[in-house]
Amino acid sequence: MSEAPHITFDLDRPGVSTGHLVVPKGADCEALSLPVFSCNKGEGPSLLITGGNHGNELEGPIVARRLVEWLPEAQRCGRIIIVPEINPLAVQAWTRNTPIDGKNLNRLFPGRSDGSVSERIADAISRLLLPMVDTIFDLHSFGPTWDFPPSVITHPFADVDLMTKTLRLSAAFKLPVTLLWEHNETAGMFDTWAHSQGKVFICTEFGGGLVGAEALAIYEAGVRNGLIALGLIEGKAEYPVFRQQKSGQSLETHPSDQLKSPAPGIFEPRCSVLDEVKQGDLIGILHRMDSLPADSIDIRAPTTSIVCGIRSGAYVQGNEEVAFLARPVPL
Ligand SMILES: [Zn+2]
Repeated sequence: MSEAPHITFDLDRPGVSTGHLVVPKGADCEALSLPVFSCNKGEGPSLLITGGNHGNELEGPIVARRLVEWLPEAQRCGRIIIVPEINPLAVQAWTRNTPIDGKNLNRLFPGRSDGSVSERIADAISRLLLPMVDTIFDLHSFGPTWDFPPSVITHPFADVDLMTKTLRLSAAFKLPVTLLWEHNETAGMFDTWAHSQGKVFICTEFGGGLVGAEALAIYEAGVRNGLIALGLIEGKAEYPVFRQQKSGQSLETHPSDQLKSPAPGIFEPRCSVLDEVKQGDLIGILHRMDSLPADSIDIRAPTTSIVCGIRSGAYVQGNEEVAFLARPVPL
């Protein structure tokens, strides 16, 4: 009989505490000890910040670790719990999914205590951390093979009151894009489970392939703006500068806005994120390697849109996503 998941210190202890979230061992691996930071300054909002849900998205863990450095001084009230890497196995392997069980942690919530290691991580978070807070910031990136503007992404859901609160806080991050993403496969996502528990859930995304200093500064500024909006720290929220622009926009995207490769080949991007495109404008070119450029296939915008995400130049399979288009929406 293995031990139950537990935290190695009392989360209700006032002030700064550090320790571990212990995910019990199972048939597939030994117990995991995930570093946890807690800063408890009494009455006020309660917030959980997580990074490393997907192991090849490292902006989140880095920004979460920066927060641990300056929050003890800056936090004015309430409770903040930070787990910089909730899936350390995937981070070590630099993979989206957990290498031991091949599963996507962000499709397994609320998890299972007797499941594989990814399911046990989800179970430990769902049982021990989620009930302690009313808001979650889950820090993602779009992954190394995409260009994607710094964004807060929310999936539409039915609870109007919670949706309103979520969109208001999303906009308060003042990132270049606040994206309402209609998504067909949200079962088991951390946000879907958190919404079912009545929590406000903020998912930040940031693509670009390389984890660079400028990207990290924008990301950290967005999270700082979110902390100001919650009243956890003091300060003036400002739009970070992204590609010479200091503003934000609200967009929506639907499954039909995903452009897919018509065949296997090398994808050549022909536009950049946040470009405005008209129907018929060139988004990219698919180069089939069994023929010369004359037979390459143009991928064009089906409608007037804004380019929200575009694949880096890469070899892609047939029917693989190469671009996400979006349209302005009043939020
Ligand atoms: Zn992710």
